[in-house]
Amino acid sequence: MPAEAAHHETQSSAPSGAATVVQVLRNGWRGRCPNCREGRMFRAFLKVADQCPACGEELHHQRADDFPAYVVIVMVGHIVVPLVLEVEMIFAPPYWVHMALWPAVVVVLGLALLQPVKGAIVGLQWVLGMHGFEAAKLAREALAVPVANAARTSGDNQGGM
Ligand SMILES: [Zn+2]
Repeated sequence: MPAEAAHHETQSSAPSGAATVVQVLRNGWRGRCPNCREGRMFRAFLKVADQCPACGEELHHQRADDFPAYVVIVMVGHIVVPLVLEVEMIFAPPYWVHMALWPAVVVVLGLALLQPVKGAIVGLQWVLGMHGFEAAKLAREALAVPVANAARTSGDNQGGM
């Protein structure tokens, strides 16, 4: 029991927790709402829903714009360029094989990564309170403060007794 209590204390005293950011990034990667982790963030391939269908959290404040595309380009480049070199070194295939293979790999990887990357970026904007997400972040923190105060007060009472 004491171990569990200590663990809980560490979590609640962490300043807007690094774990929370990682968790939100992971949920965004899976296309889930950053707030409830259940509702679908996307109403179409790259269209973010105005509100979470599960908890109603406003998601229309997101301003991912073309940043996901830049991130995907960097990721795909770092995956494909070493692969091209490796395949050339090991198999030395004719050039037409390269011409047929790599554009297809780039298209498939790019399409596969775009939605997860955009989801993670929207989650990051949400958890950092960027753009229109600031009001929601302030509201979350305002909700968190009374709970922390209540816990501290009850702790003081127990100590006083
Ligand atoms: Zn939600």
